[in-house]
Amino acid sequence: MPREYCGIIAAVGGEVNHILYNGLRTIQHRGQESAGIAVFKDRMLVRKGSGLVHEAISPLDVIEISANRGIGHVRYSTLGGQDSECQQPMTVRARFGETALAHNGEIVNSTELREKLFSGGWGFVTDSDSEVILRLLSVKMASAGDIVSGIREAMKELVGSYSLALMVGPRTFVVRDTLAIRPLCIGRIGDVHCAASESVVFDSLGGEFVRDLLPGEIVELTDRCFVTHSQLCEMPTAHCMFEWVYFARPDSYVDGKLVYDVRRKTGIRLAAESPVDADFIVPVPDSGRALAIGYSEASGIPHAEGLIKNRYVQRTFIMPDQKDRVSSMALKMNPLKPVMDGKSIVLVDDSIVRGNTMKQIVGLVRKAGAREVHLRIGCPPIVSPCYLGIDMKNREDFIAHGRDVEAIRKYLGADTLAYASMDNLLASIGRGPDELCLGCLTGKYPVPVPDDGA
Ligand code: SF4
Repeated sequence: MPREYCGIIAAVGGEVNHILYNGLRTIQHRGQESAGIAVFKDRMLVRKGSGLVHEAISPLDVIEISANRGIGHVRYSTLGGQDSECQQPMTVRARFGETALAHNGEIVNSTELREKLFSGGWGFVTDSDSEVILRLLSVKMASAGDIVSGIREAMKELVGSYSLALMVGPRTFVVRDTLAIRPLCIGRIGDVHCAASESVVFDSLGGEFVRDLLPGEIVELTDRCFVTHSQLCEMPTAHCMFEWVYFARPDSYVDGKLVYDVRRKTGIRLAAESPVDADFIVPVPDSGRALAIGYSEASGIPHAEGLIKNRYVQRTFIMPDQKDRVSSMALKMNPLKPVMDGKSIVLVDDSIVRGNTMKQIVGLVRKAGAREVHLRIGCPPIVSPCYLGIDMKNREDFIAHGRDVEAIRKYLGADTLAYASMDNLLASIGRGPDELCLGCLTGKYPVPVPDDGA
C-alpha cells in the first residue's frame, strides 16, 4: 500500500517555471524524496528526479521548461519510494490530450478502484494510488465527454484524502477532496494565478493569498482569473489536525488559521494544564518552537534555544527507514551545555509518534548535564493509524499503543510527561471535533477505513 505525504503547486499566466521551482522549494518540508515539474507549451514537458528540489531539477531544466502553465510536486513516500515511476507529476495520454497529475493525500479505496480499472483493460506501471486517480480521471473524462464532468464523476468514486493539481492539455485545474482533509489554497503572484498546498508559497514569492479551496471544490486556473466549477454550499469538513500540529510551516495559514498561532496557543494552554517549576523552556526544533514560546509566555519561565539543529540533515520523522531515522537523529541535534548543565529543563515538542527520537533527545539533554527533564507535548497521544496520507500505519509502532502516560514517561526517561488535552487542541485550532479529522487520536475517522484487527 503506498503511503504518501506530499506538496503540490500549480501556476498559470506569465513565465511560470521559476514560480513552480521556487514554490516547490518553499514547501520542501512536505517531501524530500523526489520533486518534479510538468509544464504545457504546445506539448507537455516534464522534469523530475530524486532528492530535494534543487537535486531533482537542475537550473538548466528550469530554463528549458519556460512556459506559461504548469504544475509541480514534492514527494515523500515509503513503499516504492525510490522507484522513479512513482515520481510526480505523473502523465498519461488520454482523450483530452496529454494529462499530468500531482497528488497530495491517500486514497482509502485505491485497491478496489485499481481492480475495477484493471478489469476494464487499464494497465498500471506503479503501485501508487496517485496512478489510480490519474487512470480513473482519464476514464471518467472520456466517458463524460468533458473534463469537469469527468473530474466530478471521479470524485464520486474516490474515498480518502486528495488535493490535486491537474493539467489536461492546455487547461489547468486544482481539486480538493470532499472533506477538505489535505490543505490547498489559491493565490496570485504578480499576474500569475497559482495554487499550492500552503499559503507560505504566495508570501515567500511576493504574491498574495486569495483563499482556501472549499471541500469538493474544483478550480480552473486561467491567464486571467480563477474559475470555480463546483457549487459553493456549506459542506462538512475533516481537516487533518496534524497539519497544524506538525506538518505545515508555522508561517502558513491552513484553513484560515495561522499555524504559528495554533501552536503558540496550545503552548499557553499546556502551561496552565500541566505546570512545572523549571529553569528553562527548551523547544525541540523546529516544530516545538512556537509551543515553547507559548508555554514560556504563560508560565513566566524563560525560553532558551538549548538544542541546536543541523539544518542540512533531513527531518527524522519523514525518513522512510527506521535505521535512517535513528542515525540521522544523532547528526541533526546537539544540546547547548551551558543551558542544560545542572538545570531543570522543560522540553517541548509537537507530538510523539514512535518515541525513538524523543528518547534520544532526552538522553542528549541528560548527557549535557540537565538535572531534571520535563516533557510537554503539543497534542494528545497518537494511538491509531493514519489512512489519509501520513506515514503512521502500524499501531504497534506507536509509543502510546497499549501504554499509559506513566509507562511512556519511564520509557522516554523523563522526570515528568504531559500531553496537551483534546480540549486544548480543539480550542487552539478554533474548530470543533466535527470539523476535523482526529482519527489517529481517537480511532474515529471521517471516512470508512480498513479494519486493522485492533
Ligand atoms: S488520522 Fe491523524 S494524521 Fe491522518 S488525516 Fe486524520 S488527523 Fe491527520
